Amino acid sequence: MRKILNRLIALRRVACLLFLMLQCFPVLHAQQDSTNPYKLPLVADTGAYRQEITLNPSMRLVDLEAYIPGIIPDVRYATVKNFTGKQVYTSAALYARLPVAVALRQVQDELKRQGLGLKVFDAYRPYAATLLFYEIIRDTAFVAAPWKGSRHNRGCAVDVTLVDAFSGREIDMPTPFDEFSPRAASNYDELPKKVLLNRGLLQRVMQKYGFSVYPDEWWHFDFSGWEKYSLLDLSFEQLRQVR
Ligand SMILES: [Zn+2]
Repeated sequence: MRKILNRLIALRRVACLLFLMLQCFPVLHAQQDSTNPYKLPLVADTGAYRQEITLNPSMRLVDLEAYIPGIIPDVRYATVKNFTGKQVYTSAALYARLPVAVALRQVQDELKRQGLGLKVFDAYRPYAATLLFYEIIRDTAFVAAPWKGSRHNRGCAVDVTLVDAFSGREIDMPTPFDEFSPRAASNYDELPKKVLLNRGLLQRVMQKYGFSVYPDEWWHFDFSGWEKYSLLDLSFEQLRQVR
């Protein structure tokens, strides 16, 4: 009888151990998946990206500084001068899909004829940065929902402002870049007339070439047809490897 009892106790121990192991398994599995916790279809290695651009060359990410004469880069996420207070990007780079770059070059040409130009704060953003931004802000009015991904992750969004072409200085806009306040809304109207005109000009020129402004951020523009482009999680260093 005692033998049977001991065997039963041992069996119970084994069952408990198995139960604990099964409980731990999803945690271990989730940890392995921390770069893509929402299981989005991401292009996350250079092989998959190469395949994508071979099949459809318009998917290629283009270096905007090389492609658009005169644009002024100010990649804040490659510095500590951004809302996170940390350097998020390992280097300063501005990439966008080929049709986005073509349209933005037309915007720049048109602005140039008016003595103005574009300053670009951000363009393609690796998905890893979108995950990080949401951890910090947790407000999907101002940062993209990581379970959907950002249009920046698709290489189809740009954060821009206008500069005087001669001095390179920014012209007056409602708020600084990335100020998360009601004043940043694209239709906020309690502003000086000059500021309203400047913001209106930026919106009109961008719209003419296929971009639409994001309602909560006057500086953010999405390119039409963004949904046809994949979400990417490639670092700038990885992109530089692909010729
Ligand atoms: Zn943006």
